[in-house]
Amino acid sequence: MEHIVVVGASLAGLRAVEAFRREGFAGRLTFVGAEPDEPYDRPPLSKAYLAGDADRSSLALRAQGYDELDVDLRLGQSAHSLDVSGRTVGVGDESVAFDGLVIATGAAPRRLPTQPDVAGVHTLRTIADSDAIGAWIEGDARLCVIGAGFIGAEVAATARSRNRAVTVLEALPQPMVRGVGPVIGEVLARLHRARGVDLRLGVGVDAIAGDSTVERVHLVDGSVVECDAVLVAIGAVPTTDWLEGSGLTVDNGVVCDASLHAAPGIVAAGDVCRWPNEQFDGEVMRIEHWTNAAEQGTHAARSLLAGDDAAPFATVPFVWSDQYDVKIQSAGRFSGEDRMEIVSGSVEEDRFVAIFERGGRISGVLGFSQPRRVIQYRRMIADHESFDAALAFAAENP
Ligand SMILES: Cc1cc2nc3c(=O)[nH]c(=O)nc-3n(C[C@H](O)[C@H](O)[C@H](O)COP(=O)(O)OP(=O)(O)OC[C@H]3O[C@@H](n4cnc5c(N)ncnc54)[C@H](O)[C@@H]3O)c2cc1C
Repeated sequence: MEHIVVVGASLAGLRAVEAFRREGFAGRLTFVGAEPDEPYDRPPLSKAYLAGDADRSSLALRAQGYDELDVDLRLGQSAHSLDVSGRTVGVGDESVAFDGLVIATGAAPRRLPTQPDVAGVHTLRTIADSDAIGAWIEGDARLCVIGAGFIGAEVAATARSRNRAVTVLEALPQPMVRGVGPVIGEVLARLHRARGVDLRLGVGVDAIAGDSTVERVHLVDGSVVECDAVLVAIGAVPTTDWLEGSGLTVDNGVVCDASLHAAPGIVAAGDVCRWPNEQFDGEVMRIEHWTNAAEQGTHAARSLLAGDDAAPFATVPFVWSDQYDVKIQSAGRFSGEDRMEIVSGSVEEDRFVAIFERGGRISGVLGFSQPRRVIQYRRMIADHESFDAALAFAAENP
């Protein structure tokens, strides 16, 4: 293999580039990214950076620079097409030939079908998005957040920490109830209400209104939220439009095999990748979290170099979210339908660990400000321990 192209210059793509060099790949590396910035970290965009507590330079994913990677870094350039059999990627007017390709184009915020293009209506994915929302928070705006998932909840928490008026609208009866169930959904709701968020649950958005700047959000029940800025935080969709007609299978992400190959010589990693996770009996997953993107980027590079001998990427997904003074962490697979037990701490004190059961095994863990315990249960999930064994561990380690 002489020339590898990595499309998507963010976390997964960068970890792939670094892994190629670490594994001794000495050929040409081309790293193409649509954004003008060098790869940067997104989690602070809804937390410390948005709050003004971290500066732009601290976001860099590779503070030491790119010289030692000997990579042709092409920023501000988008790949618009892929020819799988011809082994080329279209970038601008150029057709870039490759021997190996990493697809790491991530995901982009989902928009409301009726989302108007007026000032003050935002989504959050990039530094520019965070700067725009930060300016509203700085300017004492009344913020309306649509969606109480991780990003909506984090922005609400950041805005409340600056004492701004925040309304959060959520269609479900509890925040993230499908993922975490009603008990923890209630804890999340209480967390935000106790800090002064006007959290409205089970409500639908009818329209976002305003002439040149947003002025209000109309709800399906006829009520109205007056506001100066709106954040639409209703999830993300994998960035696969540029792969249309390429011949790769795209179905809510780039469909890969267990070793992250989408086709011979082509791998995918990060938020854009869908693959069967052998850690969970081959359940097909697409994960939109930092740790997965980092680990998958590294693994995808190794897989590309290994070809037919590539190993499967088997993992226990891990995610964190910081809201106010609470560090929420979870690992594994679970939903609000699974059996759940609180095994240490107490939900009233916003400090607890919950574990989840599927098929007799511990399949997931979620902790509020209990990082050590979450890691311990994550290991039990990786080891396919029974739920009873996890309960016994909990009894000895409350
Ligand atoms: C505000 C925010 C907060 C978050 N907080 C957390 C957190 O607390 N914990 C956690 O676990 N995860 C968090 N995440 C998720 C985490 O940041 C993502 O999972 C991670 O960024 C995914 O990395 P990626 O490289 O797969 O994709 P991305 O980071 O989405 O990067 C994809 C890159 O590809 C580029 N691109 C797209 N199409 C093309 C094209 N055709 N040609 C060239 N380039 C292209 C994009 O511009 C982008 O730069 C957060 C995400 C956001 C947005």
